[in-house]
Amino acid sequence: MKTFYSDAHLRHDPPEEFEMGRLHPAVEIPLRAERVKASIIQRDLGPVMAPEEFGDEPILRVHDSDLVTFLGEAHDHWREKYGDDAPAAIPSAWPARGLKERRSGHIESRLGTFAFDTATPIVKGTWAAARAGANVALSAAQAIRSGDRAAFALTRPPGHHASADVFGGYCYLNNIAIAAQWLADQGMKPAILDVDYHHGNGTQCLFYDRPDVFFTSIHADPAVAFPHFLGFADETGEGMGEGKTLNIPLPEGTEWPAYEEGLFHALAAIKKFGPDVLLVSLGLDTYEADPISRFRLKQNDYFRMGAIIEDAKLPTLFTFEGGYNIDAIGTITANVLQGFQDT
Ligand SMILES: [Zn+2]
Repeated sequence: MKTFYSDAHLRHDPPEEFEMGRLHPAVEIPLRAERVKASIIQRDLGPVMAPEEFGDEPILRVHDSDLVTFLGEAHDHWREKYGDDAPAAIPSAWPARGLKERRSGHIESRLGTFAFDTATPIVKGTWAAARAGANVALSAAQAIRSGDRAAFALTRPPGHHASADVFGGYCYLNNIAIAAQWLADQGMKPAILDVDYHHGNGTQCLFYDRPDVFFTSIHADPAVAFPHFLGFADETGEGMGEGKTLNIPLPEGTEWPAYEEGLFHALAAIKKFGPDVLLVSLGLDTYEADPISRFRLKQNDYFRMGAIIEDAKLPTLFTFEGGYNIDAIGTITANVLQGFQDT
C-alpha cells in the first residue's frame, strides 16, 4: 500500500507539554513519524509518497474558519506578546461556565477559546505541520477514491482529538475527519474505526448528528483516562445520527483477548452500517510499554489487528494517531500494516 508522508511534520517540535501540574518533555515528537517511515521502508511495505496540495476548502468542510485562522497566526501573536524566549503558546485561562463570557483578540483569550488542554503547545512550525498533515490524509483519500485497496496517511501531528472549533490532545486539525468528509463529498459512505488508546472525542463530535458517517472507538474508559469528558458507552449519536456512534470503553490493563472482542464488536457494527470505505484512526498507544497509556497489547497482537481489519474487505485508509514508545512505534505500526497486507 502507498504511504503518504510530508517532512513538514518535522517543523512541529514542541520541547515540553504541561500536565499533572508540571512541564514534561513532550512525547508527541518528530522521531515518532521518522521511526514509522523507516520501518515501512525497511519492511518494503510499499512506496512512501509526498502529498498533493488540496487548499483550504476540504479543511473548512470540517473546521470553523475562526479556528483555522487562529492556528495560522497564533504563534506570531504569542511571540509579539511574550518574545522569542517563550517558544510555545500554551493557554492558562478558559472562559469557565458560570462566569459571563467576553472574548477579546488577546492571545490568551483566543488560546483559551480554542484550546481544551495545556498539553498541545503551538510552536513556530505547528501550523505548517498540521496543514501538511491534512494534505497527507487527503492524498491517501484520493488514492482510495482512485481505486487503491488501502493507503496509509503518516499524519503528524495526530488529529482525532480536534473538533470543529477546538484543538487539544496533541491534535490541531482532525486529519481523519477531513479525509472522511472529502470521501463523503465524493459520494462515498465512510465508517471510522478509532483504535487509539484514547477516545476520539474530536471525531465523535464532528459526526455525532450525522446519519451518513459511522464512528466507532475502542479506548480506555474515560472515567479514568484522557480525554475524560467523552467516550462513554451510552453516547450513541443524536438526532439523525442516533445509532451511528458506538463507543467501546475498556478498563486499564486490557490485554489482547478482551481487546479483540471489542474489535470484533466494532467491526460487526460497521458491517451493519454498510459503508463502502473504512477509515482507521491508527493509534499505537495501546502497546504494553507505552509511556502514557495503560493497555497491554504485545507487538505480535498488531499483526492480528491488521488481519482482522482487513477481513472487513473494504477499501481502507489508515491515519497515524498516538503511540509514544519510540523504540517500538515503527515496529508495531508496520505490524498492523503488514498484518493487513499479508492477509
Ligand atoms: Zn492516544
